[in-house]
Amino acid sequence: MIENKSKYTALIKTEAKRLGFLSCGISRAEFLEEEAPRLEKWLNNNMNGEMRYMENHFDKRLDPTKLVEGSKSVVSLLLNYYPEEKQIDNSFKLSKYAYGTDYHFIIKDKLKSLLHFIQDEIGEVDGRAFVDSAPVLDKAWAAKSGLGWIGKHSNLITQQVGSFYFIAELIIDLELDYDARVTDHCGTCTACIDACPTEAITAPYVVDGSKCISYFTIELKENLPNAFHGKFDDWMFGCDVCQDVCPWNRFSKPHNEPLFNPHPELLSMTKKDWEEITEETFQKVFKKSAVKRTKFSGLKRNINFLKE
Ligand code: SF4
Ligand code: SF4
Repeated sequence: MIENKSKYTALIKTEAKRLGFLSCGISRAEFLEEEAPRLEKWLNNNMNGEMRYMENHFDKRLDPTKLVEGSKSVVSLLLNYYPEEKQIDNSFKLSKYAYGTDYHFIIKDKLKSLLHFIQDEIGEVDGRAFVDSAPVLDKAWAAKSGLGWIGKHSNLITQQVGSFYFIAELIIDLELDYDARVTDHCGTCTACIDACPTEAITAPYVVDGSKCISYFTIELKENLPNAFHGKFDDWMFGCDVCQDVCPWNRFSKPHNEPLFNPHPELLSMTKKDWEEITEETFQKVFKKSAVKRTKFSGLKRNINFLKE
Protein backbone atom coordinates (compact mmCIF):
# COMPACT_ATOMS: atom_id res chain seq x y z
CA MET A 1 0.00 0.00 0.00
CA ILE A 2 2.80 2.42 0.93
CA GLU A 3 4.43 1.54 -2.34
CA ASN A 4 1.20 2.29 -4.16
CA LYS A 5 0.82 5.63 -2.41
CA SER A 6 4.19 6.79 -3.70
CA LYS A 7 3.48 5.37 -7.12
CA TYR A 8 0.13 7.18 -7.34
CA THR A 9 1.66 10.41 -6.09
CA ALA A 10 4.34 10.27 -8.76
CA LEU A 11 1.77 9.40 -11.45
CA ILE A 12 -0.42 12.38 -10.54
CA LYS A 13 2.48 14.83 -10.43
CA THR A 14 3.79 13.65 -13.80
CA GLU A 15 0.36 13.95 -15.40
CA ALA A 16 -0.12 17.44 -13.91
CA LYS A 17 3.11 18.54 -15.61
CA ARG A 18 2.00 16.96 -18.88
CA LEU A 19 -1.25 18.91 -18.69
CA GLY A 20 0.74 22.13 -18.50
CA PHE A 21 0.64 22.87 -14.79
CA LEU A 22 3.75 24.56 -13.48
CA SER A 23 3.84 22.45 -10.35
CA CYS A 24 1.78 20.20 -8.16
CA GLY A 25 1.97 19.79 -4.36
CA ILE A 26 -0.14 17.64 -2.09
CA SER A 27 -1.37 17.96 1.51
CA ARG A 28 -3.47 15.85 3.82
CA ALA A 29 -7.08 17.09 3.78
CA GLU A 30 -7.50 18.34 7.33
CA PHE A 31 -8.46 21.38 9.37
CA LEU A 32 -6.19 24.33 8.56
CA GLU A 33 -5.25 25.06 12.14
CA GLU A 34 -2.78 27.87 11.51
CA GLU A 35 -5.12 29.69 9.14
CA ALA A 36 -8.18 29.70 11.39
CA PRO A 37 -7.20 32.55 13.76
CA ARG A 38 -5.76 34.57 10.88
CA LEU A 39 -8.92 34.33 8.79
CA GLU A 40 -11.09 35.11 11.78
CA LYS A 41 -9.09 38.24 12.64
CA TRP A 42 -9.10 39.39 9.01
CA LEU A 43 -12.88 39.04 8.81
CA ASN A 44 -13.42 40.63 12.22
CA ASN A 45 -11.46 43.66 11.04
CA ASN A 46 -13.74 43.90 7.98
CA MET A 47 -10.81 43.53 5.63
CA ASN A 48 -13.08 41.72 3.22
CA GLY A 49 -15.00 44.95 2.51
CA GLU A 50 -18.15 44.14 0.58
CA MET A 51 -16.85 40.67 -0.26
CA ARG A 52 -19.42 39.11 2.03
CA TYR A 53 -18.98 35.70 0.45
CA MET A 54 -15.67 35.48 2.35
CA GLU A 55 -17.69 35.16 5.56
CA ASN A 56 -19.75 32.26 4.29
CA HIS A 57 -18.81 28.65 4.84
CA PHE A 58 -16.25 29.55 7.49
CA ASP A 59 -15.94 25.92 8.62
CA LYS A 60 -15.80 24.52 5.13
CA ARG A 61 -13.16 27.04 4.17
CA LEU A 62 -10.88 25.72 6.86
CA ASP A 63 -11.68 22.04 6.59
CA PRO A 64 -11.87 20.34 3.20
CA THR A 65 -13.35 17.19 4.73
CA LYS A 66 -16.44 19.29 5.47
CA LEU A 67 -16.48 20.49 1.89
CA VAL A 68 -15.91 17.16 0.16
CA GLU A 69 -17.07 14.22 2.21
CA GLY A 70 -14.51 11.49 2.71
CA SER A 71 -11.69 13.58 1.22
CA LYS A 72 -8.14 12.57 2.09
CA SER A 73 -5.90 14.81 0.01
CA VAL A 74 -5.76 18.33 -1.37
CA VAL A 75 -3.82 18.41 -4.64
CA SER A 76 -2.73 21.99 -5.36
CA LEU A 77 -1.72 23.07 -8.83
CA LEU A 78 -0.15 26.21 -10.27
CA LEU A 79 -0.74 27.45 -13.79
CA ASN A 80 1.52 30.20 -15.12
CA TYR A 81 -0.09 33.25 -16.72
CA TYR A 82 2.91 35.59 -16.99
CA PRO A 83 2.63 37.13 -20.48
CA GLU A 84 5.45 37.51 -22.93
CA GLU A 85 4.13 40.87 -24.13
CA LYS A 86 2.58 43.57 -21.95
CA GLN A 87 0.38 46.61 -22.52
CA ILE A 88 2.09 49.68 -23.91
CA ASP A 89 3.26 52.30 -21.41
CA ASN A 90 0.97 55.22 -20.75
CA SER A 91 -2.20 53.15 -20.95
CA PHE A 92 -4.85 52.34 -18.38
CA LYS A 93 -3.74 49.06 -16.91
CA LEU A 94 -5.23 45.64 -16.69
CA SER A 95 -3.98 42.95 -14.36
CA LYS A 96 -1.94 40.47 -16.37
CA TYR A 97 -4.05 37.52 -15.32
CA ALA A 98 -6.99 38.96 -17.26
CA TYR A 99 -5.29 39.37 -20.65
CA GLY A 100 -6.68 36.24 -22.30
CA THR A 101 -9.50 33.73 -21.96
CA ASP A 102 -11.06 33.50 -18.51
CA TYR A 103 -8.84 31.15 -16.52
CA HIS A 104 -11.81 29.41 -14.89
CA PHE A 105 -12.63 27.63 -18.17
CA ILE A 106 -9.07 26.65 -18.98
CA ILE A 107 -8.19 25.39 -15.53
CA LYS A 108 -11.49 23.55 -14.99
CA ASP A 109 -10.82 21.58 -18.17
CA LYS A 110 -7.32 20.69 -17.05
CA LEU A 111 -8.53 19.68 -13.58
CA LYS A 112 -11.22 17.47 -15.08
CA SER A 113 -8.61 15.79 -17.28
CA LEU A 114 -6.43 15.19 -14.25
CA LEU A 115 -9.31 13.69 -12.27
CA HIS A 116 -10.24 11.41 -15.19
CA PHE A 117 -6.63 10.35 -15.47
CA ILE A 118 -6.59 9.46 -11.77
CA GLN A 119 -9.81 7.48 -12.13
CA ASP A 120 -8.54 5.63 -15.21
CA GLU A 121 -5.11 4.84 -13.80
CA ILE A 122 -5.83 4.32 -10.14
CA GLY A 123 -9.45 3.27 -9.90
CA GLU A 124 -12.49 4.51 -8.04
CA VAL A 125 -11.42 7.90 -6.78
CA ASP A 126 -13.96 10.58 -6.01
CA GLY A 127 -13.18 14.25 -5.93
CA ARG A 128 -14.02 17.81 -6.81
CA ALA A 129 -12.17 20.47 -8.73
CA PHE A 130 -11.88 24.03 -7.47
CA VAL A 131 -10.75 27.17 -9.24
CA ASP A 132 -11.17 30.25 -7.17
CA SER A 133 -14.91 29.60 -7.05
CA ALA A 134 -15.67 27.64 -3.91
CA PRO A 135 -14.65 28.21 -0.34
CA VAL A 136 -11.11 26.90 -0.55
CA LEU A 137 -8.14 28.83 0.83
CA ASP A 138 -6.02 28.09 -2.19
CA LYS A 139 -2.90 30.03 -1.20
CA ALA A 140 -2.82 28.38 2.22
CA TRP A 141 -3.10 24.93 0.65
CA ALA A 142 -0.48 25.65 -1.97
CA ALA A 143 1.90 26.87 0.75
CA LYS A 144 1.18 23.88 2.96
CA SER A 145 1.95 21.67 -0.05
CA GLY A 146 5.39 23.19 -0.52
CA LEU A 147 4.62 25.04 -3.77
CA GLY A 148 5.90 28.34 -2.41
CA TRP A 149 5.57 30.68 0.55
CA ILE A 150 2.99 33.39 1.14
CA GLY A 151 4.78 36.70 0.76
CA LYS A 152 4.24 39.95 2.64
CA HIS A 153 1.77 40.94 -0.12
CA SER A 154 -0.19 37.74 0.67
CA ASN A 155 0.40 36.09 -2.70
CA LEU A 156 2.15 32.78 -3.11
CA ILE A 157 5.78 33.12 -4.30
CA THR A 158 8.28 30.61 -5.59
CA GLN A 159 12.00 31.18 -5.87
CA GLN A 160 11.93 29.63 -9.34
CA VAL A 161 9.16 31.61 -11.10
CA GLY A 162 7.89 34.36 -8.80
CA SER A 163 4.15 34.75 -8.29
CA PHE A 164 2.27 35.21 -11.58
CA TYR A 165 0.23 32.03 -11.70
CA PHE A 166 -3.23 30.74 -10.86
CA ILE A 167 -3.79 28.30 -8.04
CA ALA A 168 -6.32 25.50 -8.27
CA GLU A 169 -7.12 22.33 -6.33
CA LEU A 170 -8.45 18.85 -6.65
CA ILE A 171 -9.79 17.51 -3.39
CA ILE A 172 -9.90 13.73 -3.58
CA ASP A 173 -10.59 10.71 -1.39
CA LEU A 174 -7.26 9.06 -2.05
CA GLU A 175 -4.32 8.94 0.38
CA LEU A 176 -1.11 10.17 -1.15
CA ASP A 177 2.38 11.21 -0.06
CA TYR A 178 2.36 14.71 1.39
CA ASP A 179 4.75 17.57 0.74
CA ALA A 180 6.49 19.79 3.27
CA ARG A 181 6.40 23.58 3.38
CA VAL A 182 9.22 25.66 1.91
CA THR A 183 10.83 28.49 3.86
CA ASP A 184 9.85 32.16 3.55
CA HIS A 185 12.34 34.16 1.50
CA CYS A 186 10.92 37.66 1.92
CA GLY A 187 13.65 38.45 4.44
CA THR A 188 14.01 42.16 5.18
CA CYS A 189 12.43 43.22 1.86
CA THR A 190 9.45 45.59 2.06
CA ALA A 191 9.19 46.50 -1.64
CA CYS A 192 5.53 45.48 -1.98
CA ILE A 193 4.48 47.32 1.18
CA ASP A 194 6.30 50.48 0.10
CA ALA A 195 4.94 50.42 -3.46
CA CYS A 196 1.25 49.69 -2.83
CA PRO A 197 -0.56 52.77 -4.18
CA THR A 198 -3.38 52.62 -1.63
CA GLU A 199 -1.39 51.44 1.40
CA ALA A 200 -3.50 48.30 1.45
CA ILE A 201 -0.69 46.17 2.89
CA THR A 202 -1.22 47.38 6.42
CA ALA A 203 1.44 45.13 7.95
CA PRO A 204 3.68 42.40 6.59
CA TYR A 205 1.45 39.53 5.43
CA VAL A 206 -1.76 41.51 6.04
CA VAL A 207 -3.61 42.93 3.05
CA ASP A 208 -6.68 44.97 3.81
CA GLY A 209 -8.83 43.72 0.95
CA SER A 210 -11.18 46.66 1.40
CA LYS A 211 -8.37 49.09 0.40
CA CYS A 212 -6.96 47.09 -2.48
CA ILE A 213 -7.32 48.35 -6.06
CA SER A 214 -8.22 44.84 -7.23
CA TYR A 215 -11.17 44.87 -4.87
CA PHE A 216 -12.29 48.34 -5.92
CA THR A 217 -12.02 47.75 -9.64
CA ILE A 218 -13.42 44.21 -9.74
CA GLU A 219 -15.48 43.42 -6.67
CA LEU A 220 -17.00 46.70 -5.54
CA LYS A 221 -20.41 47.16 -7.09
CA GLU A 222 -21.06 50.68 -5.81
CA ASN A 223 -19.37 53.96 -6.70
CA LEU A 224 -15.64 54.10 -6.18
CA PRO A 225 -14.78 56.04 -3.01
CA ASN A 226 -13.68 59.64 -3.49
CA ALA A 227 -11.04 59.24 -0.80
CA PHE A 228 -9.10 57.07 -3.24
CA HIS A 229 -9.22 59.49 -6.13
CA GLY A 230 -5.86 59.78 -7.86
CA LYS A 231 -4.49 56.76 -6.02
CA PHE A 232 -5.23 54.02 -8.51
CA ASP A 233 -1.99 54.47 -10.43
CA ASP A 234 -3.91 54.05 -13.75
CA TRP A 235 -5.18 50.55 -12.91
CA MET A 236 -8.62 49.99 -14.45
CA PHE A 237 -9.00 46.26 -13.77
CA GLY A 238 -7.06 44.61 -10.96
CA CYS A 239 -3.61 45.72 -9.86
CA ASP A 240 -0.21 44.05 -10.17
CA VAL A 241 1.96 46.63 -8.39
CA CYS A 242 2.89 44.52 -5.37
CA GLN A 243 3.80 41.61 -7.63
CA ASP A 244 5.57 43.72 -10.26
CA VAL A 245 7.96 45.17 -7.67
CA CYS A 246 8.67 41.84 -5.98
CA PRO A 247 12.28 40.87 -6.66
CA TRP A 248 11.28 37.22 -7.07
CA ASN A 249 9.30 38.09 -10.17
CA ARG A 250 12.57 38.71 -11.99
CA PHE A 251 12.35 34.96 -12.41
CA SER A 252 8.91 34.93 -14.05
CA LYS A 253 8.90 33.09 -17.34
CA PRO A 254 6.29 33.54 -20.09
CA HIS A 255 3.43 31.04 -20.08
CA ASN A 256 2.88 28.68 -22.99
CA GLU A 257 -0.92 28.65 -22.99
CA PRO A 258 -2.13 30.21 -26.26
CA LEU A 259 -5.57 30.86 -24.76
CA PHE A 260 -4.01 33.27 -22.26
CA ASN A 261 -2.76 35.48 -25.08
CA PRO A 262 -4.63 38.79 -25.32
CA HIS A 263 -6.56 40.08 -28.28
CA PRO A 264 -3.85 41.86 -30.33
CA GLU A 265 -5.60 45.23 -30.06
CA LEU A 266 -5.63 45.14 -26.28
CA LEU A 267 -1.90 45.65 -25.82
CA SER A 268 -1.68 48.69 -28.08
CA MET A 269 -4.68 50.64 -26.77
CA THR A 270 -3.79 54.08 -25.43
CA LYS A 271 -5.50 55.90 -22.56
CA LYS A 272 -7.52 57.77 -25.15
CA ASP A 273 -8.62 54.50 -26.77
CA TRP A 274 -9.79 53.23 -23.40
CA GLU A 275 -11.62 56.45 -22.66
CA GLU A 276 -13.46 56.15 -25.95
CA ILE A 277 -14.06 52.41 -25.84
CA THR A 278 -17.44 51.32 -27.21
CA GLU A 279 -19.43 48.31 -26.09
CA GLU A 280 -18.63 46.71 -29.44
CA THR A 281 -14.86 47.01 -28.91
CA PHE A 282 -15.27 45.82 -25.31
CA GLN A 283 -17.05 42.69 -26.54
CA LYS A 284 -14.36 42.13 -29.14
CA VAL A 285 -11.21 42.57 -27.03
CA PHE A 286 -12.65 40.87 -23.97
CA LYS A 287 -14.50 38.03 -25.66
CA LYS A 288 -14.29 35.17 -23.12
CA SER A 289 -12.13 37.27 -20.76
CA ALA A 290 -12.53 37.50 -16.98
CA VAL A 291 -12.92 41.27 -17.51
CA LYS A 292 -16.47 40.53 -18.61
CA ARG A 293 -17.23 39.99 -14.93
CA THR A 294 -17.28 43.77 -14.45
CA LYS A 295 -19.34 44.19 -17.62
CA PHE A 296 -18.88 47.14 -19.95
CA SER A 297 -20.49 49.49 -17.42
CA GLY A 298 -18.09 48.40 -14.67
CA LEU A 299 -15.01 48.96 -16.78
CA LYS A 300 -16.38 52.33 -17.90
CA ARG A 301 -16.93 53.30 -14.26
CA ASN A 302 -13.30 52.47 -13.51
CA ILE A 303 -11.98 54.35 -16.53
CA ASN A 304 -14.08 57.40 -15.68
CA PHE A 305 -12.71 57.35 -12.14
CA LEU A 306 -9.17 57.37 -13.53
CA LYS A 307 -9.71 60.24 -15.93
CA GLU A 308 -11.75 62.48 -13.63
S1 SF4 B 1 -2.87 44.56 -5.62
FE1 SF4 B 1 -2.27 46.72 -5.71
S2 SF4 B 1 -3.61 47.76 -4.27
FE2 SF4 B 1 -3.75 45.56 -3.83
S3 SF4 B 1 -2.24 45.21 -2.23
FE3 SF4 B 1 -1.19 44.86 -4.17
S4 SF4 B 1 -0.26 46.82 -4.71
FE4 SF4 B 1 -1.79 47.20 -3.13
S1 SF4 C 1 8.23 42.38 -2.53
FE1 SF4 C 1 9.65 41.64 -0.97
S2 SF4 C 1 8.42 41.56 0.92
FE2 SF4 C 1 7.00 41.70 -0.80
S3 SF4 C 1 6.45 39.60 -1.25
FE3 SF4 C 1 8.19 40.13 -2.59
S4 SF4 C 1 10.01 39.49 -1.45
FE4 SF4 C 1 8.31 39.53 -0.01
